[in-house]
Amino acid sequence: MDLKSFIRDIDDFPQQGVTFKDIIPLLLDANAMRKTSKMLFDMIGETKIDKVIGMESRGFFFAPLLADKLNAGFVPVRKPGKLPFEKISHAYGLEYGTDILEMHTDSILRGEKVLIHDDVLATGGTAAAVCKLVEQLGGEIVQCNFLIELEFLKGREKLSDYNVRSLLKY
Ligand code: AMP
Repeated sequence: MDLKSFIRDIDDFPQQGVTFKDIIPLLLDANAMRKTSKMLFDMIGETKIDKVIGMESRGFFFAPLLADKLNAGFVPVRKPGKLPFEKISHAYGLEYGTDILEMHTDSILRGEKVLIHDDVLATGGTAAAVCKLVEQLGGEIVQCNFLIELEFLKGREKLSDYNVRSLLKY
C-alpha cells in the first residue's frame, strides 16, 4: 500500500504559494490509518517512552494511538488560551509574525522520556518550540516523529540536536 497516494495536495492553502498536505484521505481509510500508526510506531525503537506529545491540532490524530501502543501518557500541546490549568508558553517566529504554544506544567515530570509527534515537519519552528517546552520541564526528548517531512524547507536543521524521523518525505 502506497501511503503517499492517500495524501492530497491542496495548492494555495491556507495562503498563496503554500501547497498544503491534506492527510484526511489517509484518516478516512481504515487500512491506511492502521498501517500509518504501525509504521510510525516501528520508527521509534526500543527506548522506553513515558509521554507522547501531540501538537494542536493535526498532531492529535496519531499521537494518542502511539501513546497507546507505547503504554505511555499523551500530552496535548495547545495554542494560546486553550489550556485550563497552570502552564508554560513558548513564542516562536513564523514567516510573518510569531505564534505561541502552551503546555501544562504537570504534563511532564523531570527525567521522563518524551516522544514528540506531529503530522508535518515544515520549517521546524513548531517542533523546536515544543522541544524548548519539554526541556523547560526537565523532559528528555527521545525522538521527534513526523508523518510527513517537507525536506526542501530544511526543518531538520532547526532540530539538529535531536533524533528526527519521518515516514513520508517530499
Ligand atoms: P513548521 O513549524 O514550519 O515546521 O510547520 C509545522 C506545522 O505547520 C505542523 O503543525 C503542520 O501541521 C503545519 N504545516 C506546515 N506546512 C504544512 C503543509 N505544507 N501542509 C500541511 N501542514 C503544514
